[in-house]
Amino acid sequence: MELGSPSQTKEILQKYNLNLKKSLGQNFLVDGNILRNIVGVADITKDDTVVEIGPGIGSLTQQLAKEAGEVIAVELDDRLIPVLEDTLAEYDNVKIKHGDALEVDFDQLAGKNYKVVANLPYYITTPIVMRLLEEDFSVDKIVVMVQKEVAERMVASPEDGKDYGVLSIGVQYHTAANIAFNVPSSVFIPQPRVDSAVVSLTVREESRAEVLDEKFFFKVVRASFQQRRKTIRNALSKAANIDLSRDLVDEALERVGIDSRRRGEKLNIEQFAQLSDLLFKLKY
Ligand code: SAM
Repeated sequence: MELGSPSQTKEILQKYNLNLKKSLGQNFLVDGNILRNIVGVADITKDDTVVEIGPGIGSLTQQLAKEAGEVIAVELDDRLIPVLEDTLAEYDNVKIKHGDALEVDFDQLAGKNYKVVANLPYYITTPIVMRLLEEDFSVDKIVVMVQKEVAERMVASPEDGKDYGVLSIGVQYHTAANIAFNVPSSVFIPQPRVDSAVVSLTVREESRAEVLDEKFFFKVVRASFQQRRKTIRNALSKAANIDLSRDLVDEALERVGIDSRRRGEKLNIEQFAQLSDLLFKLKY
């Protein structure tokens, strides 16, 4: 049976006597067009290996299996494993893996150059995406449904005000990011309280800016946004996560030509890179 409507999802839930768990972010997609559109954004061919995080009862997995060479579906809820074995029985290119997306080794599961496609569990959207990007997995493209406001933060630039922050820089440092389309809450069972959006993140071969020390770069970024209302000079010289003297901060800002009264939230990734490299050189 091809899934993708409210009645089919309800039928499966009844058949297996499943009550969905809010704590696991279980909001299932029940709209065939949206499922196919997600697969379309991921631009999947038979050459692709796809990892799906949180297959649920397998609605998106079925659409992925039709287009991809291989699909590896990682589901945390053990109650869903027999359901998936049933709904995916006729697709011989799907592997179901019982595991936690915050712990599995994606490269070990999928090899090299794979895509990740998912309707993510919203309680851990950001940790999953940042884990995929920061742990240097061999993933090429990530197409995921997330809360609309998280999607907006991921793609934000300094002109976008409060949406722009550590998440924007973390995502855009590693990927070319865009919002593919918005999704209303009415296409889920049960309906989440927020609207959603599908984001497409194409992993860059080289990060957007070259930096001397990536960890230090992100410390500078975090410090700059921790106290958004402060000037960049105050935020950096008072940051608890890096020990920088006021003189050192002043010297670095002057040398890279950034007005010390500006707010960190106005700097773009390239400016943060320049600044953090200079701070790094002066400090070490
Ligand atoms: N893909 C299905 C769909 O679109 O209808 C279900 C999506 S639902 C938003 C999120 C799924 O992620 C649920 O099936 C949930 O059990 C699963 N999940 C929650 N936490 C997880 C984790 N840490 N690792 C893997 N799967 C998880």
